[in-house]
Amino acid sequence: MSDSYRFDAIIIGAGIVGLAIAQRLSKNFDSILLVEKEESFGRHVSSRNSEVIHSGIYYPQNSLKARLCIAGNKMLVDFARKYAIHHKNCGKLVVISDPSDKAKLESLMENGIKNGVEGLQLLTEGEVKKKEPHIKSAGALWVPSAGIIDSHGVMQKLEYLTKSNEGVVVYNSEVTDIQFNAGNYTVSFRDLDYTASSAIVINSAGLWCDAISKMVGITDYQLHICKGEYYKTSLYRHQINSLIYPLPTDISLGLHIVLHLDGTIGFGPNAYYVDEIDYSMDDTHKNTFLTHINRFLDLPEEALTEDFTGIRPKIQAPGTPSQDFIIVNEKEKGYPNFINLIGIESPGLTAALAIAEYMKDIID
Ligand SMILES: Cc1cc2nc3c(=O)[nH]c(=O)nc-3n(C[C@H](O)[C@H](O)[C@H](O)COP(=O)(O)OP(=O)(O)OC[C@H]3O[C@@H](n4cnc5c(N)ncnc54)[C@H](O)[C@@H]3O)c2cc1C
Repeated sequence: MSDSYRFDAIIIGAGIVGLAIAQRLSKNFDSILLVEKEESFGRHVSSRNSEVIHSGIYYPQNSLKARLCIAGNKMLVDFARKYAIHHKNCGKLVVISDPSDKAKLESLMENGIKNGVEGLQLLTEGEVKKKEPHIKSAGALWVPSAGIIDSHGVMQKLEYLTKSNEGVVVYNSEVTDIQFNAGNYTVSFRDLDYTASSAIVINSAGLWCDAISKMVGITDYQLHICKGEYYKTSLYRHQINSLIYPLPTDISLGLHIVLHLDGTIGFGPNAYYVDEIDYSMDDTHKNTFLTHINRFLDLPEEALTEDFTGIRPKIQAPGTPSQDFIIVNEKEKGYPNFINLIGIESPGLTAALAIAEYMKDIID
């Protein structure tokens, strides 16, 4: 018979969300297990993104995305200050190229104000030029609470803090089965001859969250995965001061100028649905990138080079409206304290610490 180890809570997936939850729960519980199938933390969605600290302007009022993004923004900046993690409160401009889009900027601003985002301001073309001399625009919305952060540094610190609280973090441990019996979950792993058990299991498995949910018997979630590619350039280093976004689209915040902490810039992500998790780039999208970028800049094609890709775990199927995060205790389906986190796409990095705090309200 294989050994079984007992924990107060088991968290599946060491992305930024699982790490934040592990760190938060390790303050209250004596024994926490965080399990990850890869050899280290943050090998998927959490290391393949724009590293933007979002403000919360986009999401419907009172949605989890709005509430957790706004709370998470402040918590993440405080965390970065406390632990000296590299970040920058650079702010962001949502830029329009066509003056007839001004009404869309105004309604974005109204939504942001309703959500409680502070300091929003509509800027004229001249005011944008003063802030960002290289950017072409017909006006913009200024969002001062947006920023950028070293997400690897955040994850490293969360892992360290979890371990300091005697939380157990194990890698190369892929969850393959979860059995529920008399209030207890027993978790099995690929090629490991022991199991772990707990009355609380938290599924923060990102792109595999629907597969983990199915293991326990909850089959009603179906993720749609949506790729985003990034390009980079060596031009404009230290010449752009803020994040530059277009108006959002139906499935993403739009292909934007990514500002890196070293002063270089990149572009992305585009958004298209795919059938499998494959991080390769498709260079046929390069011309579309250039067209989008050159609404704001004057970048020659040879200055644009491939960077990396990320994949969004979306609840939203192609052609359907955007969906809120699902963060739920599945007790009504007969699985008490099995917590599912489904569709934690953007702004999940910003919201991670607030999601972890929210766990307190969800666990019975
Ligand atoms: C292109 C792109 C750009 C984005 N930009 C931003 C941004 O600028 N700002 C922002 O706030 N958010 C952004 N996001 C969203 C943000 O990155 C995610 O919401 C966040 O990283 C999700 O973290 P996670 O921990 O839920 O998922 P992940 O980081 O994917 O972690 C899940 C982990 O679970 C593990 N796992 C899966 N199955 C198993 C198993 N069976 N056993 C053990 N472990 C398992 C995986 O290996 C993985 O490490 C972006 C996302 C994308 C794709």
